[in-house]
Amino acid sequence: MDKGLHTLTLEQQLTQLDEGAIRAVELTEATLEAIEATDATVNAYITLDREGALAQAAAADEARERGDHGALAGVPIAVKDIILTRGLKTTAASRILADFVPPFDAAVVERLRDAGAVIVGKTNCDEFAMGSSNENSAFGPVQNPAAPGRAPGGSSGGSAAAVAADLCAAALGTDTGGSIRQPAALTGTVGLKPTYGRVSRFGVVAFASSLDQVGPMGKTTWDVARVLETIAGHDPRDSTSAARPVGGYCAAARRGPEAVAGMRLGVPREYMGSEGGIQPAVKEAVHGAIDALRDAGAEIVEVSLPHTEYAIATYYLIATAEASSNLARYDGMRYGHRTEEAADLAEVYARSRGEGFGAEVKRRIMLGTYALSAGYYDAYYLKAQKARTLIRRDFEAAFADVDALVTPTSPTTAFRLGERVDDPLQMYLADVFTISCNLAGIPGLSLPCGQDEDGAPIGLQLLGPWFAEERLCTIGGAWEALRDG
Ligand code: GLN
Repeated sequence: MDKGLHTLTLEQQLTQLDEGAIRAVELTEATLEAIEATDATVNAYITLDREGALAQAAAADEARERGDHGALAGVPIAVKDIILTRGLKTTAASRILADFVPPFDAAVVERLRDAGAVIVGKTNCDEFAMGSSNENSAFGPVQNPAAPGRAPGGSSGGSAAAVAADLCAAALGTDTGGSIRQPAALTGTVGLKPTYGRVSRFGVVAFASSLDQVGPMGKTTWDVARVLETIAGHDPRDSTSAARPVGGYCAAARRGPEAVAGMRLGVPREYMGSEGGIQPAVKEAVHGAIDALRDAGAEIVEVSLPHTEYAIATYYLIATAEASSNLARYDGMRYGHRTEEAADLAEVYARSRGEGFGAEVKRRIMLGTYALSAGYYDAYYLKAQKARTLIRRDFEAAFADVDALVTPTSPTTAFRLGERVDDPLQMYLADVFTISCNLAGIPGLSLPCGQDEDGAPIGLQLLGPWFAEERLCTIGGAWEALRDG
């Protein structure tokens, strides 16, 4: 039986559109029908834009007929609900923004629209992207389509689940400490966190500004490469945006297994050596991938990232400090939820925030405010900034010796929904292999790499030097070819 157009990869959808075998409206309808049939259980979307999507699809069909269309014309894409979409509700999965309709598009959304992409809706996530399981959403948890009853990971859990359940061709996520790569790993999809500055953050609800980065999630390296080529590039409205040319990521993804011959790939001792944390099936699968890359001609060497043990503590000081400052703007006055009853201005602030923010967001605002307060700043925030420099130098030293690093994405496969909600520290450990990458600002790619004994997906992480996204796509494409034989 025909499985339906919505189940094709982005690349396959583009090919069929290019050949005129299908129309964008037909593809969009198939996708919307799939969402309407299954999303009541998956809960990947917070907002669906049926009308807007069909209008964009019709416009894409017209552009294709004229022979003048963008690189993603007619392809259904989902956008994490922390990225602003003009005229389309953007909630950050928070009660405080539950009715917020942005007056402008984020830079990445502008670029998607210019390329002709069809934005089908806004995906569920942890509130303000704070979490590793998507259970911190004010709009309910998301089911992992690849492992029923288990969390899809977070914070971009809705984007990952939408891709895994064939409810879009690709999706945008954001990654502050692992939120693209970890949910990709847990749902058996591909996620790419670009170099800090590669993609504009203009119009992205800020969590921790020095760590946040938007990136693509999809079914294959080529698919995420295609989206990255569209959204990457300099934007004067983001002062941290890099003025460097965008690479040929799709071409890189097609170089095949031969392209890794002669590459030096590093395996960090601190990641693979730790006996305690890694699930045996994850370790085995990652070693299997490393062996396959070695057989294809890559040289595998052990490297050391000696400050790895400080990464989580460093991250949770810096990220909470920045969050406490960024989230000060939600005061019930300018936009977002305002309390019904308050005696004076101070009470408007206190009640609006008290009613609007969820427990994890409040915890982080308190931690961050404490870490920045007079008398504690030197002991916590300043110390964390110094540790961050040491972590970045670990990577500089490693990349002086190797072309890329190969690690697991997550120490375990998907955990059960509800299993870690009462234990924030346990939840924070889910990002032990992804967080250093954000602290250093380097790019990372997570790819499916087998399953555990229960059939839950395992993720392989590739980390590269600053702006080496092309190289990551080359290795990612090579690994997929090796894996799929
Ligand atoms: N899980 C991490 C956190 O809770 C990372 C989140 C993210 O990357 N947005 O902060």
